[in-house]
Amino acid sequence: MSVLAEFEALYGVEPEGIWAAPGRVNLIGEYTDFNDGFVMPLALPHTAVAAVARRTDGTLRVHSADIEGGIVQLDVSALEPLASTDWAAYPAGVVWALREAGHPVTGADIHLASTVPTGAGLSSSAALEVVTALALNDLFGLGLSRPELAVVAQRAENAFVGVPCGVMDQMASACAAEGHALFLDTRDLSYRQVPFDLAAQGLRLLVVDTRVKHALGDGAYAARRAGCEAGARALGVRALREVPYVHLPDALARLSDESVRRYVTHVVSDNHRVERTIALLDAGDARAVGPVLTEGHASLRDDLRVSCPELDLAVEAANAAGALGARMTGGGFGGSAIVLVEERAAAAVSAAVEKAFAEAGFAAPRIFPAVPSEGARRL
Ligand code: ADP
Ligand code: MG
Repeated sequence: MSVLAEFEALYGVEPEGIWAAPGRVNLIGEYTDFNDGFVMPLALPHTAVAAVARRTDGTLRVHSADIEGGIVQLDVSALEPLASTDWAAYPAGVVWALREAGHPVTGADIHLASTVPTGAGLSSSAALEVVTALALNDLFGLGLSRPELAVVAQRAENAFVGVPCGVMDQMASACAAEGHALFLDTRDLSYRQVPFDLAAQGLRLLVVDTRVKHALGDGAYAARRAGCEAGARALGVRALREVPYVHLPDALARLSDESVRRYVTHVVSDNHRVERTIALLDAGDARAVGPVLTEGHASLRDDLRVSCPELDLAVEAANAAGALGARMTGGGFGGSAIVLVEERAAAAVSAAVEKAFAEAGFAAPRIFPAVPSEGARRL
């Protein structure tokens, strides 16, 4: 059944519209977004779709085609932050964040269905938040810009659900353009669409979903974040983004804590890798991005220490089979890796990764191409 027909069957009325917002992969710039740094995500063809109708009686009803358990009914004036981490907290958090900011959202009926794999580091949560935010923005005539919607969505996840994520995922879902990567400065949310037409250059970007579930809530993410903040304080800067790559040796000489030194090394060098990637793409040399990805992986594995055996194996096996470069993407500890390959080598590289996983006794990975796709939109 279509999302439209499902909405009608659930709520007994027609939706006022249907919206879609994509998941994303991050090409380069990892754990930089909470350091005011640079990131470069691209939107996937996989989307969360929402059919929505306004209500004026203060009732919020949400339903997901992908979750057992029926309609969740809430009262918009009684939404409590951090009360639940159940899936409904994501769309409810968006309603809460909009109302907190003074927007007159008086209720809604929402039916969601998503093709973004969950817990695979591909931002199914941001897709859900952004599609909800865009739909309510349109229906209630709120007039918020795409970056403003992304900030509302991030606030929903941070303050209502309780996940301390940066703003990259929501910005990617809200602002990405087809055939492009989004070069985003997370300090002021300024961004530029960088042409990333892989097919035209005979290239492919593969996503390798290791099927290992990441769990950012386990404190590792918070520890990295706290370590980066401690590093910035010790260096007398507001955020690590202010440490230029050429000053990294000086900065490290002024830091004593071993883990803080490693985190600073990662953040400062990954920011630099984003700048190098931009320069390569602007020069039309997407192939040369491969080794930059592999360098980034080594830094995530050895300095930040957020990789895992499955991600390391995906990167190693892909590179050994002739990929141009590869790295883990997203928060790590599982989730997905990306692999840049010549189109003609894609099948052989995929097969080599699958074989390596089987030999290691790991669950079979799910491998698919990341086609740079359009950001959130009304359908
Ligand atoms: P990621 O964003 O990397 O996929 P998260 O842990 O941040 O992983 O978000 C996954 C959570 O988002 C799920 O546990 C669920 O609560 C919610 N979610 C994602 N997609 C859907 C969906 N289609 N229906 C309901 N909830 C969803
Ligand atoms: Mg998420």
